[in-house]
Amino acid sequence: MRFVIIGNGVAGATAALALRARDPDASITMISGESDYFFSRTALMYAYLDRMTLRDLEPYERQVWTSQRIERVRGWVRDLHAPSKTLTLDSSVQIGYDKLLIATGSVARDLPWVGWERAKRGLVHFVTLADLERCEQQTRRGGKAVVVGGGLIGVELVECLIHHGMQVTFLVREPWYWPAALGGEEGLMISDHIRRHGVTLLLEETVNEVECSGDGHVQAVITDSGRRYDCELLGVTAGVKPAAGWLAATQTPPRTARGILTDAAFRTSLPDVWAAGDCAEIEIPGAAPLVEQIWYSAKRQGEQAALSMLGDPVDYRPPIFFNSSKFFDIEFTTVGRVNDAPAGSRQFYWRAPEREASIRIVEAAGAVIGFNMLGSRWEHTILERWISERRPMEYVMPRLREAQFDVEFGRLDLAPALEKFLSRGPEPEGAKR
Ligand SMILES: Cc1cc2nc3c(=O)[nH]c(=O)nc-3n(C[C@H](O)[C@H](O)[C@H](O)COP(=O)(O)OP(=O)(O)OC[C@H]3O[C@@H](n4cnc5c(N)ncnc54)[C@H](O)[C@@H]3O)c2cc1C
Repeated sequence: MRFVIIGNGVAGATAALALRARDPDASITMISGESDYFFSRTALMYAYLDRMTLRDLEPYERQVWTSQRIERVRGWVRDLHAPSKTLTLDSSVQIGYDKLLIATGSVARDLPWVGWERAKRGLVHFVTLADLERCEQQTRRGGKAVVVGGGLIGVELVECLIHHGMQVTFLVREPWYWPAALGGEEGLMISDHIRRHGVTLLLEETVNEVECSGDGHVQAVITDSGRRYDCELLGVTAGVKPAAGWLAATQTPPRTARGILTDAAFRTSLPDVWAAGDCAEIEIPGAAPLVEQIWYSAKRQGEQAALSMLGDPVDYRPPIFFNSSKFFDIEFTTVGRVNDAPAGSRQFYWRAPEREASIRIVEAAGAVIGFNMLGSRWEHTILERWISERRPMEYVMPRLREAQFDVEFGRLDLAPALEKFLSRGPEPEGAKR
């Protein structure tokens, strides 16, 4: 049996190891255009901050791939011919498969600004190793940078540029930073924090034009409000989309929509072809098509897709959502449903006095469904357990300390939060902004 995997990210690498764990004799090949070895994309910023080397970003010792007999091929797959079960690389090398997993991840979203096509230098994304290299080449102490797009990747890029001494203007289209995940109060707290690090953060600014010099070097962006922001480096971090577009140029592309369409067992429309991770769009009966673009989901999907390729019955259901990250120095843990809470839900919000920390807990139909915890560390498995046990807020509030994880910097004192809860209780959804 020859298993071939396109992509050596967390979905592809996890699938390769899961296949080997079950099938000691199969041939397993992992192809990647980006890198020779699996690396942690989530840690890209630590390489830019010079806190880690590129080698440090690799979660496994390199000899693992040899000892596990997982062949690594470097190259971009340009063609897929399903009837002959053949892939063609950009080098024209052909690779046959019996079963194929496509785990090609995400690509940065481009923006339809006036002048976009003229920008040849100075415009960077922050998704790939090649992006990191471009960023490093264009970073200049004292130089002016503009970063557009107020999500997680944007704030990471901003932090790196500030660290390297650039003057950074951060343009966010929304009324507060990252409304997809944060309520208005948290957005305000994070905005203040970002500004305190020397960033010019401007809200409700939508870029519509990029100006370049004659040789295509970015010089400025112009917003809807007519303002012009000079820059020699323009970071565009307006989200990512599944890396499925390349399939359109192949002889036999699988069915795609936002991503590569699969069923709940990660099977695509092509025989013996599966897809998993950021590039997959999973059609689960009775639910909206699912594109999950986060690390733990890609890992879980890679594992489950491998089981499906081995013939196990797989019926994927997304687990309770969890993510953690940080905005400069403020840690962030989110679990369950917060900003997409159903109508009629209630929520409790508390901001710690004299500390950049807050908690937001959402309850619907008498059970907690989501947590947004900022500025302290939380054990997400406990928060997940309370959600799955359908505990009411009255149960969770006095026990919150059990889920705190903050040994390094001292725990957040939760007594005032409980006091506020006991005296005022939760508020109806909608009061949060
Ligand atoms: C800067 C940054 C920070 C992030 N931070 C977080 C975070 O804090 N928390 C979180 O949960 N998630 C975070 N993410 C998202 C997370 O990294 C992704 O969800 C995850 O890496 C997806 O894994 P994947 O295996 O599906 O794809 P990827 O890691 O993107 O791997 C896809 C691989 O496929 C290869 N490939 C693509 N097309 C081809 C082709 N045609 N031929 C050959 N090879 C191909 C690429 O070379 C790449 O190596 C972050 C992402 C970025 C960019």
